[in-house]
Amino acid sequence: ILLPFLLAFVWLVGLHLWRKKSRSSLADDIKSGIENQEFFLVYQPIVSSDDGKAKGVEALVRWQHPQMGLVRPDLFIPIAEQSQLIVPLTNYIFERALADFSKLSVDSGFRIGFNVAPEHFIQSDIEAKFRYLKDAFARIGVQPLIEITERQLLTADMCERITALRELDILVAIDDFGTGQTTLSLLQTFTLDYLKIDKCFIDTIGQDSVTSHVLDTIIELCHKMNYVAVAEGVETQQQADYLISRDVHFLQGYLFAKPMKLDELSHWLEAHSE
Ligand code: C2E
Ligand code: CA
Ligand code: CA
Ligand code: CA
Repeated sequence: ILLPFLLAFVWLVGLHLWRKKSRSSLADDIKSGIENQEFFLVYQPIVSSDDGKAKGVEALVRWQHPQMGLVRPDLFIPIAEQSQLIVPLTNYIFERALADFSKLSVDSGFRIGFNVAPEHFIQSDIEAKFRYLKDAFARIGVQPLIEITERQLLTADMCERITALRELDILVAIDDFGTGQTTLSLLQTFTLDYLKIDKCFIDTIGQDSVTSHVLDTIIELCHKMNYVAVAEGVETQQQADYLISRDVHFLQGYLFAKPMKLDELSHWLEAHSE
């Protein structure tokens, strides 16, 4: 009678151990992947709703794994975050973008947005690191922008450190606004420049009026608090028209461009800059 239970137990323990192992070996792969430069960046343009011209890009990481092929960030970023590898990975990403953009010439004030996890701000020498980055990007005419992902709660200490970055002239955006842990009271104590409205709200445009009221409320909040609104995941002209009619300043999404490798981006920018 006990045999099926015993088998189920052994199976469950086995599954648990296998999962644990696969997570840790993926973490090992991330570590060696950074050393072997298997990570690269693609860049998605962000256009101004005034004139449709590109004012900057968001840098999005990709992993060319030697066995698994191209791996999407949704899979490895959470593992990097859990295994203390997100800081070295993010530092690698900054260096990679610096190297990439030193090969392009962009309009002055061109912005590159980086996704930075809150853990990054725990580093003790974070201000010196960002001062170096700010200067290095300034030499190639680029203004760095930090998109703060809020999968974890932002602590008061992190907010203080992030606020200090704005004194270095680094732009700060809250990413995926409306989906994470950011509370309205946090927005009151924490000044930032941009608020990126998550795609799930953009998807409600043209749907029933109750869900799209949430979007309208977020846009109003941006206007009232003087944040510049950026809409992400804009896929249709109807969505773009609606957002423009509501004075959303910046738009990002497949309607305008998909994330591109540097050489493709360079051609795209030639056709879409001032
Ligand atoms: P995110 O910051 O919200 O990035 C936007 C994601 O939406 C990107 O997916 C982008 O390719 C996708 N996207 C953009 N426009 C459209 C659209 O019109 N339709 C649809 N369906 N999707 C669109 P991606 O590149 O797979 O990145 C997924 C997430 O992984 C990012 O979400 C971000 O949270 C994280 N991530 C990506 N790169 C980095 C990085 O360098 N560092 C960190 N810490 N996280 C990153
Ligand atoms: Ca982002
Ligand atoms: Ca986002
Ligand atoms: Ca998103």
